[in-house]
Amino acid sequence: MKDLLAYNERFVAEEQYLPYQTDKLPDQKLAILTCMDTRLTSLLPDALGLKNGDAVIIKNAGAWVMHPFGSIIRSLLVAIYEQDVDTVWVIGHTDCGAQHLSAPNMIAKMQARGIPASTIELLSTYDPDFDTMLHGIVDVGKSVQETVKFLREHPLFPPDIIIKGFIIDTSTGKLSPCD
Ligand SMILES: [Zn+2]
Repeated sequence: MKDLLAYNERFVAEEQYLPYQTDKLPDQKLAILTCMDTRLTSLLPDALGLKNGDAVIIKNAGAWVMHPFGSIIRSLLVAIYEQDVDTVWVIGHTDCGAQHLSAPNMIAKMQARGIPASTIELLSTYDPDFDTMLHGIVDVGKSVQETVKFLREHPLFPPDIIIKGFIIDTSTGKLSPCD
């Protein structure tokens, strides 16, 4: 890994932070739920013309909401009720790695790294979400549509929130609506 800490010292010393300064509220009143794929790190905000401070961006593997009252929903509720967000976009992407995940494969990798089979057996027996957690999404478009529907029907989301779904092309940054 390159020397991130040395870079950081220089960044601060040279006041390179000045163009990033903003307040904590998202200026575009927008929250985006998207994938953690590294190809989107700069491409997604740049392709939409979003600058620092414009939008709340929440990421996980596959832009997927697994729990109705889990960390993703919690973050969206904070964005809506504490940060004045009025629009939520769910953005899946082409060639998403979450499409190729398989629970048996990941379990094999865990075991190869020293996680005992008994631990995996115990968790998969007692936690109903264990297998689901490791599974991939089958189709990104469908997954985004399901997530949008799920958010629109969420009992804690106010009815005036605008929720839309898109797929972004990881090569060109082109955004296509998908709901
Ligand atoms: Zn992805």
